[in-house]
Amino acid sequence: MDGQINLFGEYQEYPKVQEKPKGREKYKTMQQIHGTIDGKICKHCQHCRSIEYANKYYKCELWILSHSSATDIRLKNTACGLYKEKGR
Ligand code: SF4
Repeated sequence: MDGQINLFGEYQEYPKVQEKPKGREKYKTMQQIHGTIDGKICKHCQHCRSIEYANKYYKCELWILSHSSATDIRLKNTACGLYKEKGR
């Protein structure tokens, strides 16, 4: 386990980095770029936004914002390395 002690004296693990897409394949998720943090989900992140029309859609404000379902995120997704707890 790799990690470091943060400014508040808490041990914080480095995000687990996923494999890079091969060739011309593009990154499809924030988790591919920034890695994942175990035990955290997008639902509790400051950057998670909901947009409501006929249904409710969830987007990450740090990712590409469009009206396409391709940019939707799931609330139960494992959090990426840029996760920020709501209310901090
Ligand atoms: S955890 Fe990462 S992908 Fe999920 S909402 Fe926050 S910044 Fe976006």
